Amino acid sequence: MRIRYLPETLINQIAAGEVIERPAAAVKELTENAIDAGATQIDIDIHEGGKSAIIIKDNGCGMNREELIAALDRHATSKLPGCDLLNIEHLGFRGEALASIAAVSRVKISTRAGEGEAWSITAEGGQKFDPVPSSHPKGTQIEVRDLFFATPARLKFMKSDRAEFMAIKDTVQRLSMAFPHIGFTLSHNGTRKLSVPATNDPKARLGALLGRDFQDNAMTIKAERDGITLQGHAGLPTYNRGTAAHQYLFVNGRSVKDRMLRGVVRAAYQDVLARDRHPVIALFLDLPPEQVDVNVHPAKAEVRFRDAGLIRGLIISTLKHALHEQGVQSSSHRSNYALSSMKTGTGALPLGRARPSVGSSAFNFAPLAQPQNLPPNTGQDNGFSDHAPVSYQPRMNIAPSARVEHMDHTPPSPETLDYPLGAARAQIHENYIIAQTQDGLVIVDQHAAHERLVYERFKAQLKQHGIEKQGLLTPEVIELDTAEQEQLLNHQDTLSRLGLEIEPFGPGAVTVNALPTLLGQKTNIKRLVLDIVDDLRDHDSIDVLEDRLHEILSTMACHGSVRSGRRMNTDEMNALLRQMESTPLSGQCNHGRPTYVTLALKDVEKLFGRT
Ligand code: ADP
Ligand code: MG
Repeated sequence: MRIRYLPETLINQIAAGEVIERPAAAVKELTENAIDAGATQIDIDIHEGGKSAIIIKDNGCGMNREELIAALDRHATSKLPGCDLLNIEHLGFRGEALASIAAVSRVKISTRAGEGEAWSITAEGGQKFDPVPSSHPKGTQIEVRDLFFATPARLKFMKSDRAEFMAIKDTVQRLSMAFPHIGFTLSHNGTRKLSVPATNDPKARLGALLGRDFQDNAMTIKAERDGITLQGHAGLPTYNRGTAAHQYLFVNGRSVKDRMLRGVVRAAYQDVLARDRHPVIALFLDLPPEQVDVNVHPAKAEVRFRDAGLIRGLIISTLKHALHEQGVQSSSHRSNYALSSMKTGTGALPLGRARPSVGSSAFNFAPLAQPQNLPPNTGQDNGFSDHAPVSYQPRMNIAPSARVEHMDHTPPSPETLDYPLGAARAQIHENYIIAQTQDGLVIVDQHAAHERLVYERFKAQLKQHGIEKQGLLTPEVIELDTAEQEQLLNHQDTLSRLGLEIEPFGPGAVTVNALPTLLGQKTNIKRLVLDIVDDLRDHDSIDVLEDRLHEILSTMACHGSVRSGRRMNTDEMNALLRQMESTPLSGQCNHGRPTYVTLALKDVEKLFGRT
């Protein structure tokens, strides 16, 4: 066996495997080239998910004949003048994108630099032809046809046209968020899917991409520390989604999918958002180029910070500060806060003795039937922390309206006191049921509890005869984007089995014609549909969807539960308690938060120094 050098074409194909793993990656590289070339308008045409053609036209600086020839060579770049990998100021810098793309497809580039002559060049499977004079306005147009025809193995891994296009759209959206002063259009098979005009207002661009709603429901973020600036927009906690897919981080203008971001955002919002809800966020971090290494990932989708701790700290504290300014008491739901704010008539509790500690757990999450389903109960976090109500019940202003909604003056019968959840005595703060047991008291979160009950009933219905549905008197029209519409319609039949009847309604909209009966009339249908779109995201095949039926049911249950705020009389409250006792897993809602807590009488007595 002899060691030999691989031919250039093969080397380029190997490189293409890393740099260009799917059509979206080619679109990213080519669009970045147009941005680097100083374009103010970039038009992108995609055919068949980018598999048959990707055509990108820009009005940037263009190339002369020599540059055009060199551009297709590997490691030929105009962007590292100082040959300094520590000082990268363009989006591209490796000079391998065009060579890689040309190695695996049929490429045609037409270009003109300033007042010079126009040239075009073609290449096929890595074979480059001589440039020929052409007619072309200033700027560059690159056509990439039959991507991966030269590497059939890779071709096999392409997903559906729709899935590939969704990835392309995400790529273009990210780039257009970072460069608001450039106008972008994106079409698929001749249909316009995105069009954003150049603007000087970054927030307007975000609004155009993420929806007007976001613009109205976002806080402005601005901070500076040690030459590092952080700015952008972060959604209010009540404006949240079921996936973290709508969180964008840009580092020096480069969109990065950094796992750090998710953790950081979670940490900042943890007190105001349930674990499974995610804020919408677009943050732009700018720091001196030498403090960040962008050369760690083939597609440049990840970066490495010299001082990651500093960056993390900056983002968390800035977001927390903004949330605080917004009037959301981000710490008010913490367990220790809740416990230590129990006051006696004259001052704080004598903490040493009487403050119910987590270890001795004055507050218990008493599981009825399934002790293994206790919410995780570790350390300082005794479960109260995640009690923060979420999107479906924004209740930040509960304090002023705090009052006892219902109080029962007749003493409960001794039999009722024997039930695990006891006898309902009062409803307070429009959401909490106080019940009395033989040896203590129980506080029930009526919304969380009801959500669990609805979910379990959905599951039972689905198993027996399918979900009962009820037609709407007037169908509700929901505006979506076209990709979301398509996604929903692909699952029309399955959703119909789940009681949700939808139909297309022009481009980008659907009508909802029927809802599961259990959901009731007051459901916010738009919200429900958006949440389901999130549930469906990235799950194309029906097989996977089957696994996710319960997830969708859980989303529906959340929407169909008794709002906090609904008043209940003693009989209704007792009925709810009895249902909870006979329902599996009723100790926690679908989000893993407890549905009730218990406080033993002896602990109440301790609180008052009676023991
Ligand atoms: P890189 O972007 O890393 O330099 P590429 O292979 O993507 O590598 O591009 C090689 C070179 O081709 C670039 O450095 C640039 O000089 C030129 N080029 C590519 N696309 C364009 C374009 N749209 N307009 C002007 N020049 C371009
Ligand atoms: Mg490039």
